Amino acid sequence: MELTGKRVVLFGLGVSGMAALDFLLMKGAAVAVSEKRSLSGLSDREQEAVSSLELETEGHSIDFIGRADLIVVAPGVPLNLEVLREARGRGIPVVGELALAAGEFKVPVIGITGSNGKTTVTELIGTLLTAAGFNPFVGGNIGTPLLSALTEPDRYNIVVLELSSFQLDIGGSFRPDIGLLLNFSPDHLDRHGSMDAYIRAKWRLFANQKNADTAILGGDDSLIMENVGKRGISAGRSLLFGHGGGTRAEVVGSTVVLDMGGGKEEFDLKGTALDSGVNLLNSAAAVLTATVAGASPAGIRNGLASFVLPPHRMTLVAERGGVRFINDSKATNVGAMMAAIRSCEGRQNILIAGGRDKDGDFGAAKELVGKKISYMLCLGEAADTLDRIFGKTVSVEKVGDMGAAVARAVSLAEPGCTVILSPGCASFDMFSGYAQRGEVFSELVLQVSGDR
Ligand code: ADP
Repeated sequence: MELTGKRVVLFGLGVSGMAALDFLLMKGAAVAVSEKRSLSGLSDREQEAVSSLELETEGHSIDFIGRADLIVVAPGVPLNLEVLREARGRGIPVVGELALAAGEFKVPVIGITGSNGKTTVTELIGTLLTAAGFNPFVGGNIGTPLLSALTEPDRYNIVVLELSSFQLDIGGSFRPDIGLLLNFSPDHLDRHGSMDAYIRAKWRLFANQKNADTAILGGDDSLIMENVGKRGISAGRSLLFGHGGGTRAEVVGSTVVLDMGGGKEEFDLKGTALDSGVNLLNSAAAVLTATVAGASPAGIRNGLASFVLPPHRMTLVAERGGVRFINDSKATNVGAMMAAIRSCEGRQNILIAGGRDKDGDFGAAKELVGKKISYMLCLGEAADTLDRIFGKTVSVEKVGDMGAAVARAVSLAEPGCTVILSPGCASFDMFSGYAQRGEVFSELVLQVSGDR
């Protein structure tokens, strides 16, 4: 994208906006910033960065953004804002950071998306590549904003990007050399409107791929397989991972069996952090992707052995009196909540769920909850919905806060059972984010469960 001398409006600053600003200035664009917060609400670094730029604060006006050649929106900005609609109506392109990055990478790019497991798999691929001798940039929807990979390009010889449906939706002509789609479960339907629109956004990962590129797909996921037929893949190679035949990386017990055509290679995950439920599947995805990127089996083995799961994802907080307390606060949709319930042993487990509902299809979890959960403790805005959906299947109690949830769980728990926080909802009705929710839960567990 030719940006020299163009008037580019950055719509929303924040962490990724700051990286976009560096990139746009590097490209010689005339940057103007339109920001929702007041000037005093910006961090010192942000204030300094905008001090010499054209700026509007405390909202976005069409007078300001309507004079742009291009509008770059920060992730998280709803695209249906009236002022953006009006700008688009005037013919001004509205794009995201991914569209800016398109065509700029001088090294191979791996793009990772899916409803669940993106962060785990992105970090795992980064670990496997590092162990195999690469210098990967790892970021995007997690950690470092993706445009930072372009402002310091000499530090990396491969780029690994976690990509959200929002980023892909306005990703322009972005094209990954390797596109990895993990799974589909309804999420963010409050923002995308329908499952079809959500799938369409995620499928954009593959939209610009060419013959030399590779698409890697979750073969166990019926929605993915259905959409391969319906939407097509333009990459020269499509490879599957999963449990069945026809996969190039197959999960067999605690082993990932890789078959690239020249003999099988086995990766034993016993004794590693990845030896459970969905993480075996995530490992198959990562092993296959790292192999396509050129990592050696020995490097991959070392990476698998040293990998530490990111926090708030099926993290064992304590085991007291035969009860396991698990923090899965990052489960912010029904698919992740179901994966957590599936991993519980026996039928007498206690689930703490609820928060801000994102139009999740909780009905899909009813049968599973009936099989594995005896008590459900429901929090936050979604408590009534959960009571209505699950109240006839298991004992449901609404609780006022996390303290009450943990205290009640401790009093109900029988030896051998699992108490799991896997909310299936966003956290913003009661917490600053999933991390704070998980920290509060973990601290309470460590305080209260000591009495058991
Ligand atoms: P994302 O970045 O897509 O949100 P994370 O790796 O942060 O994914 O994990 C989010 C939640 O999804 C956690 O609760 C985690 O235990 C669960 N999870 C991880 N991998 C999978 C998977 N392959 N299928 C279903 N749930 C998963």
